[in-house]
Amino acid sequence: MTESNEVLEEFRELFDIIKLCYQCGTCAGGCPVFRQYTKFNPRRIMEKLLLGEYNEQLFDDQQIWYCSMCYTCSTRCPQGIDIGHVITEIKNLAVRLKNAPPGIVAEMEAILETGTTAAISQSILKRREKLELPELPKADLGEIQKLLEVTGVVESLSLLKEESS
Ligand code: SF4
Ligand code: SF4
Repeated sequence: MTESNEVLEEFRELFDIIKLCYQCGTCAGGCPVFRQYTKFNPRRIMEKLLLGEYNEQLFDDQQIWYCSMCYTCSTRCPQGIDIGHVITEIKNLAVRLKNAPPGIVAEMEAILETGTTAAISQSILKRREKLELPELPKADLGEIQKLLEVTGVVESLSLLKEESS
């Protein structure tokens, strides 16, 4: 079985959870991302899944990456569907198909190299000092790198970089 077929097979297993959705829209109503950017709509994502649009196009859909994984939808769904988890699973499967936006890949690299998603500039540090905010704690890079290694992020990152080179 190819990687792509295996991914689709795993994805179909998620359908047992998704099929309980009756499209009430509560997930979209509470979603902080939807409030700011209506093109990202968790109800619509669930609809696509219900309609059987679980082909590779779904993994190409850049919309899934807007989910901030706050899990508000999961706590509010009247059917008890963990929508945040479903979207996270789709993201994971998309990565296995070497399909993630360049911005996400850059963030993964930055965390691996510095322990943060973005460099903390001198101007930010000065502003913090002016506001009398406490010094930022130093990230334990060794521990972060170990975590990324055991959770498979390092391997996923090398797959994604292979694809983009
Ligand atoms: S809140 Fe639950 S049942 Fe309602 S649309 Fe979202 S996933 Fe479906
Ligand atoms: S987990 Fe994602 S989809 Fe659900 S409310 Fe938060 S941002 Fe929206």
